Formats: sequence, structure tokens, C-alpha cells
Amino acid sequence: MTTIPTFALGDGTSIPAIGFGTYPLRGREGTDATLSAIDAGYRLLDTAVNYRNEDAVGAAVRETDVPREELVIATKLPGRDHGFEETITSFRGSLDSLGLDTIDLYLIHWPNPSVGKYVDSWKAMVQLQKEGLVRTIGVSNFTTDFLTRLADETGVLPAVNQVELHPYFPQEELLAFHRQHGVQTEAWSPLGKAQAPFAEEPVAAAAAAHGVSPAQVVLRWHHERGVLPIPKSASPERQRTNLDIFDFALTEAEVQAITALGKPDGRLFDGDPNTHEEM
Ligand code: NAP
Repeated sequence: MTTIPTFALGDGTSIPAIGFGTYPLRGREGTDATLSAIDAGYRLLDTAVNYRNEDAVGAAVRETDVPREELVIATKLPGRDHGFEETITSFRGSLDSLGLDTIDLYLIHWPNPSVGKYVDSWKAMVQLQKEGLVRTIGVSNFTTDFLTRLADETGVLPAVNQVELHPYFPQEELLAFHRQHGVQTEAWSPLGKAQAPFAEEPVAAAAAAHGVSPAQVVLRWHHERGVLPIPKSASPERQRTNLDIFDFALTEAEVQAITALGKPDGRLFDGDPNTHEEM
């Protein structure tokens, strides 16, 4: 089984350097896929209220022999629950759905700027962390402007920002901001989902040079950039190979050639957090 390195977080805790994405796995199938991911070695499990699978992930946490304290369970606040009290209530709902007493990583799923309540939600998350109910608080799909507003209004920057990030959308500027301010980047759709760049020359060439698969090259590219990818796979075999990225390294030139695949319109869908909102 692969041993996973960790990244140190700004709040003094640490987090596995790769996690398991669970959308759209649901029901018994979702629990079984999560159990096989845990068997493969994943310890960070990424769920959300809006994936409607907190119950399936929670069942896997109860069924596995791996102790609860070795698992890092991440879930996300949906847009319809923004606001201070709404966040506290939604958090309790997540604990119920997961069947857990605490959550290890709690994220605001989308900023939803037209709703205008993400700062109130953030204040509630700071309180939940102070009460010991959440270990690490963070956000998802936040731009540098939204992050700066949280810091200005609460004095607390998120420890984690989970964003769209893959070779066609490498997020150079956001990564630089995160590095400067000690925010850990998590990559969603880290493989590029249906538009994976596996046939692109820099990816294929690195795969051939290192004797690994294109998916492993892309996941290693994230690691070389200090990014935490959360690939989803329902296949136990792909779950295992996606984890097996810690005994080879890409050269600086290979990393740069893959980053150069980025395009200004490289998002998978029009998921610009300034305009795309999810409730
Ligand atoms: P992804 O992980 O980049 O891609 C998943 C797709 O790639 C699945 O179709 C999977 O199919 C396939 N795949 C996995 N490993 C593979 C391999 N080694 N070779 C070839 N194909 C492979 O994209 P994602 O599922 O969109 O993103 C991952 C996670 O990020 C989600 O599950 C979710 O937890 C999170 N997410 C968060 C947000 C947000 O707003 N915060 C948005 C989107 C996603 P199989 O299952 O058949 O292997």
C-alpha cells in the first residue's frame, strides 16, 4: 500500500498530499468505492452536502477497519445555507448525514457573491473551529479578491482553497497568491475529467520517460507544484494507480511544459466563481 506524504497547513495541522474525490458516487456503490479507496491507501475523503453522498461516505468511515482518527473527512457548505446561523445548522446536518461527531476539513463550497453572505458563513466556521467541532476550515472556488475580503473582515485566512485546476487551467496567479499567504491549494477535476490531456505531447512524453501512465504524470505534476489533487475513480485499479505517484519525479522542464498547456478559457465549464453560483 502506498504511503502518502503530507502537506503542513497554515493552522498547524497537516493533510495528506492526495485525496479521494467522491462525486458522483452514491448509495451502496458509493460506500463500496470509498471503502476500496481507503483500502488502496487514501485517507482524505472529499464529500459535500450537494453531492448527496455524505451518508455513503460516512458508512464507509464506520465500516472500514482504519481508525477514525487516521481519516480526514472533508465536506462543504452549500450555497443555500450561507449566513451565520444557517451555517451552524447546515454543519449539524452534515454531522448527522455523515454519522460523525467532528469534521476534519469544512469548506464553503462556492462564494456565491450575489448572495453576499460568505463572510457571515466564514465567521460561523471560525466559531465551529474554536469549539473543536472542525479541525481545519477552508473554502472552495474563492478568488484572490474573495480570500482578501475574508482576511480583511475576520483576520482569518482559509487554510485550504479547493479550486478547478488541471493542465488546461493551471491557475498560476492564484497559486502564487496561495504560496505567499500560506493557503494550501486543492485541485478539483485534477485529471481534467472528460477532457483529460492524456494525449498531449508533454504528458505522453513524460509518461514514456518515467514508465508511468499519463494520469500519473498529471497527478505528479500537481504534486511538483505543491498542489493537493483529489482524483475521483470508481475503479479500484485506477484508485490504486492514481495514488502511486510518490516514487518518481518530473523534471522542472516537464512541469513547465505541462503548465504551458494552460489556456485562458481552459475551464471545463463556465465555472468562474465571480459569476457561476451553486445553491
Ligand atoms: P477528475 O478526478 O479529474 O476525473 C474523474 C474522471 O476521470 C472519472 O470519469 C474517472 O472515471 C476518470 N479517471 C479517474 N482516474 C483515471 C485514470 N487513472 N485514467 C483514466 N481515467 C481516470 O474529476 P472530478 O471527478 O470532476 O473531480 C474530482 C473531485 O473533485 C470530485 O469527485 C469532487 O470530490 C471534487 N469536485 C469539487 C468541485 C468543487 O466545486 N469544489 C467541483 C468538481 C469536483 P472512473 O471513475 O471510471 O475511473
